[in-house]
Amino acid sequence: DPSADSYHPLKNAYWKDKKVTPYLALARTFQVIEETKGRLKMIDTLSNFFCSVMLVSPEDLVPSVYLSINQLAPAYEGLELGVAETTLMKAICKATGRNLAHIKSQTQLIGDLGIVAEQSRVSQRMMFQPAPLNVRDVFRKLREIAKISGQSKMDLVYNMFVACRLSEARFFIRSLIGKLRIGIAEQSLLTALAIGLVKKNHIDDCKASKVAEVYKDEIADTTLLLKTAYCQCPNYDIIIPAILKYDIKELQERCPMHPGMPLRPMLAQPTKGVHEVFERFGGMQITCEWKYDGERAQIHRNEKGEISIFSRNSENNTAKYPDLIARSTGLLKGDVKSYIIDSEIVAWDVERKQILPFQVLSTRKRKNVDIEEIKVQVCVYIFDLLYINGTALVTKNLSERRKLMLEHFQEVEGEWKFATALDTNDIDEVQQFLEESIKGNCEGLMVKTLDEEATYEIAKRSRNWLKLKKDYLSNVGDSLDLVVIGGYKGKGRRTGTYGGFLLACYDTENEEYQSICKIGTGFTDEDLQTHSEFLGKHVTSAAKSYYRYDPSLEPDHWFEPVQVWEVKCADLSLSPIHRAAIGIVDGERGISLRFPRFIRIRDDKNSENATDANQVAHMYQSQDQVKNNQKSSTQME
Ligand code: ATP
Repeated sequence: DPSADSYHPLKNAYWKDKKVTPYLALARTFQVIEETKGRLKMIDTLSNFFCSVMLVSPEDLVPSVYLSINQLAPAYEGLELGVAETTLMKAICKATGRNLAHIKSQTQLIGDLGIVAEQSRVSQRMMFQPAPLNVRDVFRKLREIAKISGQSKMDLVYNMFVACRLSEARFFIRSLIGKLRIGIAEQSLLTALAIGLVKKNHIDDCKASKVAEVYKDEIADTTLLLKTAYCQCPNYDIIIPAILKYDIKELQERCPMHPGMPLRPMLAQPTKGVHEVFERFGGMQITCEWKYDGERAQIHRNEKGEISIFSRNSENNTAKYPDLIARSTGLLKGDVKSYIIDSEIVAWDVERKQILPFQVLSTRKRKNVDIEEIKVQVCVYIFDLLYINGTALVTKNLSERRKLMLEHFQEVEGEWKFATALDTNDIDEVQQFLEESIKGNCEGLMVKTLDEEATYEIAKRSRNWLKLKKDYLSNVGDSLDLVVIGGYKGKGRRTGTYGGFLLACYDTENEEYQSICKIGTGFTDEDLQTHSEFLGKHVTSAAKSYYRYDPSLEPDHWFEPVQVWEVKCADLSLSPIHRAAIGIVDGERGISLRFPRFIRIRDDKNSENATDANQVAHMYQSQDQVKNNQKSSTQME
């Protein structure tokens, strides 16, 4: 049992003589993790399994990692399984001799085809007993299944299902559906890998269960190094061989960024006015750029001249913008072979030569866009250069990066532009520039350090980029991006749709969703209809184990965490019921939003990119009345 305190990653790896990891060992690990409540224990269990694989069958580490997060390739490649449930049901029927109606009703009752598959034992007698499954074969075949269709897909699923033993059936079927349900997301996975690595390094002098205590600092360092490397190189096919071969301290240099592989973007902190900006930056040289309201785009060109475009979330958006690719050479000046630029794509009115609102951009088709059919034209506003001709620029200051950007690229009217910028340390000029940005159809300004503390901080919400929005609510400063986790049935005019919803922020450290408010305002009837239809497809039978909420908030339906909404509010207050940021500002109370109002769906964010618990705490604390209260209580002391 990989969760037992006595588990020894080498001695207890029962497959050590064969050196091929059985799928059953992984399935058993998943089973234990699914039954475990605390996140630390879940991570520890997974780290034990990873450590065993590192020691016994290291070439299985890559497939084991991908299988644990139910991915077939780096996320940005977008290779997905998602086999239809009915196809799987048919395969299960064929193998078990049960009828389809029975499997369907059982699935409705239990709410999980994986469990139904596990419970329906294979009844067919085989001439030859299929060989036991192993991790690398399962992974290879899942990749194959994702790429083929029709009868051959069915056959492959069937052949593998027949070979499943015990809980293998559960996880195999869940992998195919695309929902593993063990609650291991990226951050937990990276931590488990780091702990596994430390356990491996100390396998001789320490029992696995003690490593977490004895080598606390080493675990913290290893985790940080691994997570940092992953932000610039989000690809386990590269990272894992490197951690097995080299010292972890070399990881960043062994796994360099390169075009074609998205970097986690640098993010900004909100502010509530020009004064706050100057308080923060003091005498540092700063630049203000217009903050365009469109879609963030990291545009890559590799040595072969291939272009890829990634969203804020590192999703591959290349197929959405064939028009940009067609005209990409116009941007180049001089000898440019490869680059990574950071930019914002906005909708563009060709006749009036002006920026159109975000809503227009959001009507553009997302996939398989045919260049002839494009109705919404776009213009790209470039604001940063992260890589040029084989050299990464992220450790250079913004003024140097900008100089290189101007050297290698050129503007093309209505197609490629540099973000309008003003380098000034004069408060009135900043205020005036803010007004101008609004007249230019922008959201406000981004204020950035130029020379000091001005490197590109991958994946960080940095204090060196401040956003200054015109429509900031004087009290709150920014909107929040929240995950819809529950729905309340509507009454009166709203009968037949949901009338209200339960929203949550995301706590990155504990990887859980914490309730922050109920919301019922800001929706048109049409919005409610759309939301009800979409969320109705993502109802789950119970709250997820990683939802934190008070029982008094129990909604009529719980949802999978699949959609993020932008929400504005009047202010944030401490709440005895809601759990957002609990333990950060107050030990027992969370934070909730007062008068929340729906603004729009954030398609470009997945639920793990929702506003984080620390951001909620920060927004709460920077409200004037909270600050004043804190000041007066310190004065009283
Ligand atoms: P988050 O901060 O979580 O990304 P968000 O996606 O709502 O939230 P904002 O915080 O409002 O974005 O602002 C940062 C975003 O502004 C960037 O991600 C980018 O898409 C956009 N942006 C527009 N113009 C610029 C610019 N000149 N410099 C940097 N970012 C810009």
